Amino acid sequence: MQAAEFHFCPQCGRPLDKSMIGDQLRKNCLYCSFVHWGEFSLGVGGILWQENKVLLVERAADPGKGLWTIPGGYVEQGEQIYEAVKREIREETGLFSEPQALIAVWDWPGNKHMIYVVFLMCHLGGILQADPAEVSNLGFFTIEECHGINITDLSLKLVRTSYANRTGLNRTSEIEVIGNLTTLYQIDGKAWPETS
Ligand SMILES: [Zn+2]
Repeated sequence: MQAAEFHFCPQCGRPLDKSMIGDQLRKNCLYCSFVHWGEFSLGVGGILWQENKVLLVERAADPGKGLWTIPGGYVEQGEQIYEAVKREIREETGLFSEPQALIAVWDWPGNKHMIYVVFLMCHLGGILQADPAEVSNLGFFTIEECHGINITDLSLKLVRTSYANRTGLNRTSEIEVIGNLTTLYQIDGKAWPETS
């Protein structure tokens, strides 16, 4: 995704300049302290299994109109990702759920740096009902049925990866889920961030 080009300072409204800051040419404001450090977006997704079927939604609007995905969306300013995934699933599907484990973190460091955090969810209740503004259809699908619908590659990969851990998560199996996370990075050819 292409990031928007900023021409004016969002703090004081004057034209932005460019300066070398922290070894990179960055847009900054010569009148106030503003520095444009970059464009980032943070998304969350939730995988909710019922027996051997997973909750999927058909997107009613772009991006991805007509495609089936796991429920999710963008994190609000000041909102914890844990709360964001619960809210998105509730808004899109009417179901109440709770994160059980971290399934994956996707990292797309492009012009706009996008991060997508995916949780395995535990179903708490609620009545399945689509939010027509965001979701045109929804339901629970087996992995076999997932192959028969227009599902995104990423959602299908996440569904398949989480299948083995869909029930009975405890402290021990959470370690296995983290193992899968590393594997997912390797599948996409992306390096696990080095820790020093
Ligand atoms: Zn300024």
